[in-house]
Amino acid sequence: MFLRPDYIKEDMTMADDVDIASNAIDAAMEDTLALRRASAEADMAARRNIENQNVTRECCECGEDIPRPRLIAAPRTKRCAPCQEEFETRAR
Ligand SMILES: [Zn+2]
Repeated sequence: MFLRPDYIKEDMTMADDVDIASNAIDAAMEDTLALRRASAEADMAARRNIENQNVTRECCECGEDIPRPRLIAAPRTKRCAPCQEEFETRAR
């Protein structure tokens, strides 16, 4: 009876593990890319809306209107630039 040496079995197991890990990495990368694409598309849609519908938005911190150039540059922002800067400083 032919006995397969143990190292062959180990090599095959390792190859399976590498394949499984590689597939998981590929799937995670595809998910990340899909999320980034969806986020970029949401930004474009929001920007179009701001440009075409004359949208204004109040800063959630100070209540002032967020300047239009900032809204177009950062179409999903909730804060004016000074409040965003302060918010980010607080978060650190
Ligand atoms: Zn503000």
